[in-house]
Amino acid sequence: MPLTEFNLIERYFAHKDPRRDDVVMGVGDDCALLKVPAGFELAVSIDTLVEGVHFPEGTSPEAIGHKSLAVGLSDLAAMGATPAWATLSLSIPEIDEPWLQGFSSGLFALAKKYQVQLVGGDTVRGPLVISMQVHGFVPEDRALCRSGAKPGDGIYVIGTLGDAGLGLRVVQGKSSANKNDADYLRKRLDYPSPRIETGLSLRNTASACIDISDGLAADLGHILKASGVGATLQVDQFPVSDSLRNTVSLDESIRLALTAGDDYELCFTVPMEREAALEELPVSCTRIGSIEAQSDLRLLDANNLPYPMERNGFDHFRK
Ligand code: ADP
Ligand code: MG
Repeated sequence: MPLTEFNLIERYFAHKDPRRDDVVMGVGDDCALLKVPAGFELAVSIDTLVEGVHFPEGTSPEAIGHKSLAVGLSDLAAMGATPAWATLSLSIPEIDEPWLQGFSSGLFALAKKYQVQLVGGDTVRGPLVISMQVHGFVPEDRALCRSGAKPGDGIYVIGTLGDAGLGLRVVQGKSSANKNDADYLRKRLDYPSPRIETGLSLRNTASACIDISDGLAADLGHILKASGVGATLQVDQFPVSDSLRNTVSLDESIRLALTAGDDYELCFTVPMEREAALEELPVSCTRIGSIEAQSDLRLLDANNLPYPMERNGFDHFRK
């Protein structure tokens, strides 16, 4: 019996764990009904993933389900928000049950990890496009914004940079890597880890924060612009994985760290007097430079000499 839209929603998206006490009405009525706790602001973000643009064709449905929630959770992490709810708009070319099963299992595995309840959505027939809206809570006036960086603040990133971008190039056959490295890089592309715990612990420490979805130069550029400051980065301090180092030259690793998107790590700034608090972070972070009053982004190499900006490389990412 062909699956109707209603049965599809029932089977793959309704009545899934977790079920939260702050959901008065979830999937099943015309609207969801939700309770925001007193003293908190609601942090909301939406992202759309288009096949062939935001993930390569042939990506597993589990990975697509994971990533469609992970990118939104990464935005909540960057604001220092605790995730709560999600809504999903799903456009699919046909009712393909193995695909829906995979998508749903990838999505709900991550939803369970962060106690996010899917509370509603929309399902239509069309090209494969997934929009996920996420909602989280942040105590009033405590969100981590892009606008708080001050001259003298240290610039930090967590995790490693450039892996997802190189993973995409390997998938596309534009770079070759040994099997172990190729598998690692592909995993970094397909299964980004939203840095929720880190975002929460940075709430008392960071002066500004952003998640790296479009590359360090572009995303740090948003902090610089919003804060009305500039920065100098030490390119020899960029944290890169062994797999990245094994696969590309040093210059290429720096270019990838600066310009490759999709890593979903956090970049944040910290006033000097609060830097000691970073030892409490759940993951290790790396200091890659400092905020300065002079606008724009400058790069220094290991000898403190200017690192040449490739005209066609990342110059157009500068703000
Ligand atoms: P309406 O026509 O009133 O918009 P729908 O038939 O689109 O209702 O959806 C029925 C219910 O299922 C609603 O509660 C809606 O939020 C939910 N829903 C639809 N598609 C999805 C989906 N892909 N994921 C989660 N909930 C969904
Ligand atoms: Mg509808």
